[in-house]
Amino acid sequence: MNIYVLLKRTFDTEEKIVVSDGRIEDESAEYIINPYDEYAVEEAIKQRDEHGGEVTVVTVGDEEAEKQLRTALAMGMDKAVLINTEDDVEAGDQFTTAKILQTYFEDKEPDLILAGNVAIDEASGQVGPRLAEGLGINYVTTITALEIDGDKANIDKDVEGDVEKIETSLPLLATCQQGLNDPRYPSLPGIMKAKKKPLEELEIDDLDLDEDDVEAKTETINVFLPPEKEAGRILEGEIDDQVKELISLLKDDAKVL
Ligand SMILES: Cc1cc2nc3c(=O)[nH]c(=O)nc-3n(C[C@H](O)[C@H](O)[C@H](O)COP(=O)(O)OP(=O)(O)OC[C@H]3O[C@@H](n4cnc5c(N)ncnc54)[C@H](O)[C@@H]3O)c2cc1C
Repeated sequence: MNIYVLLKRTFDTEEKIVVSDGRIEDESAEYIINPYDEYAVEEAIKQRDEHGGEVTVVTVGDEEAEKQLRTALAMGMDKAVLINTEDDVEAGDQFTTAKILQTYFEDKEPDLILAGNVAIDEASGQVGPRLAEGLGINYVTTITALEIDGDKANIDKDVEGDVEKIETSLPLLATCQQGLNDPRYPSLPGIMKAKKKPLEELEIDDLDLDEDDVEAKTETINVFLPPEKEAGRILEGEIDDQVKELISLLKDDAKVL
């Protein structure tokens, strides 16, 4: 099988993030593989081991993303592709990313493309479905189980905690949800092998695209952190008094009653 994973380098939301002038300061952030894309990497390796073939991981980004691609190679992916937009595209959005990926895939004949359910930074969940629409292939989002038999795929899809059973066919794009698998950590031999695995670097020129073809359809006006939460307050005394105080606080302070 010809399997691909779409991987996004994102900042780590568990670490401190500094926002100034409506943008996240690159220097202050820690960067990781988008956690949902780790499920995609794990699933791709699992499907390759079961059905044979090759697994390739693809990122649209800049050369900083090489680190995350090498990690995916160390986990067990066979090949990596970095579509480097640094010199050619100043601002992009989900349209930009999906259009670049669509052009990349036009001569690739993928059987299966796995993406994350959402990226934890911008979280639109658009890139996977937009790409599948562009390529004219089937897609299912938020999958938690995938069984492939010939060109048939049986899928469990998470629908807000319930499970929807779906039967579809390849070629298929699926976006991966928590619960699909337990992503492995790269092993030491895996890290050593990854250094020698192929990492192809392309620019949008190589895809016969120029900046106008991928011009963003949206503009990010501002980025800001939510206001800091005030400390909670614990009411004390007799229960009847606490209830009265709580009601007056909800009425007069919080103004929610
Ligand atoms: C050239 C360029 C310039 C950009 N400039 C700006 C900017 O100026 N300001 C700004 O705020 N944002 C910018 N972006 C980022 C862009 O707006 C989105 O973050 C990006 O398109 C993905 O959208 P999302 O984060 O909502 O992903 P989602 O759709 O939530 O991601 C879902 C899944 O799609 C896949 N995916 C998402 N992004 C990529 C990727 N880059 N490569 C491979 N797979 C991916 C992953 O599998 C991911 O889990 C730029 C992007 C590009 C390509």
